[in-house]
Order: sequence, then structure tokens, then C-alpha cells
Amino acid sequence: MNDIGESGQPPSLWAATATPAPPTGPLDGAADADVVVVGAGLTGCSTALHLAERGTSVILLEAHEIGSGASGRNMGLVNPHFRVLPTQVSALLGEELGGRMNAVFAAGGDTVFGLIKRHEISCDAVRTGNIEASFTKRGLAELRATHDERLSLGAPFQWLERNTLAEMTGCERYAGGYIDRGAGGIQPLSYVRGLARAALGKGARIHTRSAVNTIAKLGDLWRVTTDRGQATARHVVVAADAYTEGVMPEIRAAMVPMWTHIGASEPLSPNLRRTIMPGGQSLGDNATVPRYYRIDRDGRLVVVTLGRAARSVLSPLSDWDRKAMSWAFPHTGAPKIVYRWQGVLGISPNHLPFVHEPEPSFHVPLGYSGRGITSATVMGKILADRILGQPSGECPVPLFPLAPAPYRLLHGLYFRAALYAGRLVSMVR
Ligand SMILES: Cc1cc2nc3c(=O)[nH]c(=O)nc-3n(C[C@H](O)[C@H](O)[C@H](O)COP(=O)(O)OP(=O)(O)OC[C@H]3O[C@@H](n4cnc5c(N)ncnc54)[C@H](O)[C@@H]3O)c2cc1C
Repeated sequence: MNDIGESGQPPSLWAATATPAPPTGPLDGAADADVVVVGAGLTGCSTALHLAERGTSVILLEAHEIGSGASGRNMGLVNPHFRVLPTQVSALLGEELGGRMNAVFAAGGDTVFGLIKRHEISCDAVRTGNIEASFTKRGLAELRATHDERLSLGAPFQWLERNTLAEMTGCERYAGGYIDRGAGGIQPLSYVRGLARAALGKGARIHTRSAVNTIAKLGDLWRVTTDRGQATARHVVVAADAYTEGVMPEIRAAMVPMWTHIGASEPLSPNLRRTIMPGGQSLGDNATVPRYYRIDRDGRLVVVTLGRAARSVLSPLSDWDRKAMSWAFPHTGAPKIVYRWQGVLGISPNHLPFVHEPEPSFHVPLGYSGRGITSATVMGKILADRILGQPSGECPVPLFPLAPAPYRLLHGLYFRAALYAGRLVSMVR
């Protein structure tokens, strides 16, 4: 899983165009704080920021560099809503917890864009809405149900018929869909670095290149050890999600790992640019193997889909990103792919995030299931509330024990088979 080079980041479009990381270095020697957070992705940085803003002392320890896990390499789509509908969330968790969870996470778009504004985070943020579409009858019916329920709850959703969708996106493949006008896009590495900078500004201490090897209880305190130092605190947050390494292997076992890869083209000509998602929205679909497209600030077409990037030109998966671009936007020709990278995200058994708390002072948030930009950012605030004394009965996220994800292997095989099938079918379509 480790594709991180000397720079501490995997090579990607985002690594090449991000705002610089704030200066940080390894933990050397002993230090103490109220809270130690392990992992400087969105969850860790948001937790550190929300705690530091409220005067709590925090040490954030990162094995590599800020954002080197999923947070700095994702697609950058700020989608405020889970894939699971509010009625399903309430059915799964009960009216009370489900209602709290729906309310807090539905405001996730405002939380993300609010933090960007408040802390003046320069991350190419746009909030022009994201489009979800389908080319099948069944897919359309699912989107319609999502649209109707979200709209009835006041979310800024709008249904798009085939022609309107084609006019807005320049893609004629889809039969219809909706736009969520509360959604948007960011440069993900710049965003997570911006959160880290804001946390540092509020007094948090961030140590990079500080992989945590052990976490041990000493009386009422936790001692967290790295190769060169140790940090002691009353609370520990392990915010390492699908990128957990060196500690707590049960975290990764609790999720189905979903590989995804992204390709980014060279900048499109201004003429082409005017024909593809000119309103700044992204376009995605709800196929078993979905794909999402967006344009970055320099006019590159970026596409994400499931699976790992092909390692050989002979693989049926080879050049998938370029093929997916010409499938949706044939008039681009097949644009040259300049950046290609991949990452893994953690899917929880019910596709909802949760927190594992083996002890009241030990917190393990995880399971964002592909919607981590909003969910992980929101989770940081939830954890800060929790650490500062919010009772379990008011927590807006389920507190579940960690258990191996059921059918983990089968899930993996199912998606792998669907991936190959989807790609073979789309080759002939
Ligand atoms: C390719 C891809 C595309 C995605 N696209 C989107 C999208 O468009 N929209 C969206 O909402 N979500 C998307 N996601 C999901 C989203 O990126 C994640 O849910 C989110 O970033 C998780 O954040 P995190 O902070 O919990 O974990 P991470 O960002 O993975 O951070 C965990 C950190 O912990 C560190 N760590 C691990 N072990 C240790 C240790 N022992 N000691 C110290 N540090 C440690 C890691 O190095 C890492 O930096 C995507 C994910 C991927 C992989």
C-alpha cells in the first residue's frame, strides 16, 4: 500500500499543484498534552483544529507527511450526503441516533466550506453543485428516490432530464439525474494542509515523520511511542482509517478496502473546456463501478473509478482513465493522461461512519465509505465535543465496537469481478 516517496506524498496532480505544507518535523523526546491524535489526514487535522480552538492542548503525530493517506490523494468532491438515505439511517440506528446523525452530517457541506472561509484556506474551492446521473432505468429510479427524499428534507437538489443534463455537462451518455447544489469541489491536499495550518495557528503541535509504534495505558494516561519520542495524554484518537499502519491491525480488518484510481489529463484547450462541465460541476454515475469526472482549476479533465491502475499495457484495465474520458466526452479525442495515482478507502459494513471507544478516553473514528471529505471533517468536531465531555447519549455518531467486517473477502471479490465486467462491457458499448 505504501507508494509514498521521499516527499512524503504519492506523485499525483494534487501533490504537483498544492499549496505548500506548513513546516513540521518529527517528535523528538518526551512531550505531553491533553490529547494525542494519530494520523494527519482530514480526521486528525479537523480534530486537532476543533480541540485547539477550544483551548485544549493537542499533539498530532503523522507517520509520513500531512495528507499522505487518502486525504491528500482523493478526488476532491465535497458531497454533503451519505449514500445511505436518511430514512435508511434512521431504520438502521433508530429514530433518535439516526435523526441526530442525519442532521449533523447533512450540514457537512456548510462545515467544510465554512472552515475554508473562516481559516482562509486556499484550496480552489468551488460550490457549484455536483451531478449524479445514470444510463439505466434502474439507476434512474434509484436516483429519483434519492432526489425526492433529499428534496423533501430541504436539500438543494434539482432533477435534470436527459437534455438539460447533456447541456450542462457536454456528456450525452446519461438518461438523466440530479444536481446537488450544496456540493462542490476542492484541491484535497491543499485543503488538508490548510486545516493543519489552521490547527498549528491555534496552538496544536504537529509532528510528521513520526510513526506511532505503540499505544499503552499508564494509570489514567496514554503513552504513545514513536521511534524517537513519546507523547503522553489523557485521551488518544487513532485517526488512521484505511491507512492504519504499525498499530491496531483490527482497524483495517473492520472495513472493506476499496481501491480507487484517478487519472488527470493535460489541460484541455479553452474551446474544449467551454463544452465540458462549463458550470464547474462534477459529473458522476451510480453504476456498480461508478466513475466521476471533474475539471481542475487549470482545465484538466480528472476521472476516478474503482480498482487499481493497470500495471501492464496488456491488462484489460490498461488506459482505463483515457477510455473513460473518451466514453463520456468523445469530442475530446482521447486526451493525454499526465497524472495517474491510486488510493484505498475504507467501507464500513453499513456504509456509515462510526467511532470505536474501547475506553472512554480512547477514540477510533472510521468508515467514511467514500464520503470522507465532509464526514471526516465533521467527525473532527464530533470527537472534540466528545473529548470535552459530551455524553454518549448526545453523540451524533454510533459508538460501535470494532469487529472484522463480515464478508470482507467476498465484498472484495464481488467488486473486483464487477470491475472487470464493467470494463469489458464498456469496451464494446
Ligand atoms: C482515490 C480516492 C478518492 C476519494 N475520493 C473522495 C471524494 O471525492 N470525496 C470524498 O468525500 N471522499 C473521497 N475519498 C475518501 C476520503 O479521501 C477519505 O474518507 C478521507 O480522506 C479519510 O480521512 P482520514 O483522515 O480518516 O484518513 P487518511 O487521510 O487516510 O489519514 C490517515 C493518516 O494516518 C497516518 N497513519 C497511519 N498509521 C499511522 C501511525 N501508526 N502513526 C502515525 N500516523 C499514521 C497515515 O499516514 C495517514 O496520513 C476518496 C478516497 C480515495 C482513496
